[in-house]
Amino acid sequence: MARDFITPKGDEGIYHIDTASWRTYKPVMNKDICIECGICLTYCPVNSIHKQNDQYIIDLSFCKGCGICANECPKKAIDMVLEGEK
Ligand code: SF4
Ligand code: SF4
Repeated sequence: MARDFITPKGDEGIYHIDTASWRTYKPVMNKDICIECGICLTYCPVNSIHKQNDQYIIDLSFCKGCGICANECPKKAIDMVLEGEK
């Protein structure tokens, strides 16, 4: 589920922005294939991937769906799927 983020916008004040609302594709990680190398975390431009309890987790509330993580994963453990498909 998407979360709102608060962003200051100069003289116009503060806005609540649903940062993931424009995503068309979302990354889905296959934990059975993942070797926990951390490359996806390193390349994600918006820091949406975190390590939690020795597993890499994608935070979809902030992910833009750019697909860089899927492209860089050496094991092809991340699929980009249309929103609402999986
Ligand atoms: S880059 Fe791929 S194999 Fe490495 S941690 Fe991310 S999903 Fe797992
Ligand atoms: S699709 Fe882009 S924004 Fe989303 S987790 Fe992957 S690299 Fe980060």
